[in-house]
Amino acid sequence: MPLTFKDVRRLFQVPTKGRVRLRDYDPGWAADKELQELTKDELKARAKEFLAHTVTDLADAQERLYASDTHSVLIVLQASDAAGKDGTIKHVMTGVNPQGCQVFAFKKPSSEELDHNFLWRYMRALPERGRIGIFNRSYYEDVLVVRVHPELVNLPSGKKGRKEFWEDRYDDINQFERHLTRNGTLVLKFFLNVSKKEQGKRFMERLENPEKFWKFSFGDLDERKHWDEYQDAFENMIQHTSTEWAPWWVVPADHKYVTRALVAGIITRAIDDLGVAFPEVSEEKRQRFGAAKADLLADGVKPKGKKKKKKDAEVATEEEER
Ligand code: AMP
Ligand code: MG
Repeated sequence: MPLTFKDVRRLFQVPTKGRVRLRDYDPGWAADKELQELTKDELKARAKEFLAHTVTDLADAQERLYASDTHSVLIVLQASDAAGKDGTIKHVMTGVNPQGCQVFAFKKPSSEELDHNFLWRYMRALPERGRIGIFNRSYYEDVLVVRVHPELVNLPSGKKGRKEFWEDRYDDINQFERHLTRNGTLVLKFFLNVSKKEQGKRFMERLENPEKFWKFSFGDLDERKHWDEYQDAFENMIQHTSTEWAPWWVVPADHKYVTRALVAGIITRAIDDLGVAFPEVSEEKRQRFGAAKADLLADGVKPKGKKKKKKDAEVATEEEER
């Protein structure tokens, strides 16, 4: 896409100060001016092409992250139902080495989880150094679904009635993310911003397309009735927890191809900016390579560079097989 990263940041990264209004972010955003001349199909093709090569870049970046073993990356995805969290994970992480990445989907907490502080279950799932961890829903649910349904707060009654209750939670989250950042975890947070209209369409599709029946949940329709309360909770959450060390990205989600291309681009760029590289091999270790090679030679292993020259045709077949 001809958008520069600076444009992407200006359009979708939430400032760390001032009032946040979700209505300033268009869920149906599909292109900047230059791209608007294209037809919808052309645009879709362009986004797919961008995604395809970004996904390759991401796989490379992840390999360096894994090899360097100095940082980890935590990707947090929050959104209304049917905004495309699962599809985004699937498409963006294609090609990434499964050994270097882990996905956790958080559902209703168990009674054991409820008996701990609200961050406990998420702490246990954090990515270790060298890995990318994805939270499909996260500790942010504890200021979202729990805020819309305060009866879910599991604390002695005196504590949850306090006016500062939610502010305290935002503060806890900010400090938690600060702690992670200071300890080498890059925290990337995406809010997939879908419109109520598009959500309705996607629910309807789940009722009409047999392959999507399994995705339909009656509970999702109940939550849709609280749409405005959720939007308020999202807005409040984003405003209070977009920080210098872990800013929010509000990504348009009415067009799936746009969401995926943007999320892939932002993650790749952020990992690149960490400057992780393959570890340097020390001079001392390299000097011992000679002796190791001699051992292998003695064992009858031929060095690759010294194979007999092959005919061109043979090389071409080998290339194809790879
Ligand atoms: P899904 O992601 O569609 O499988 O749904 C997971 C469900 O778990 C959603 O209805 C969430 O609202 C709910 N959930 C996730 N985290 C929490 C939480 N901390 N407290 C209460 N409900 C939660
Ligand atoms: Mg669901």
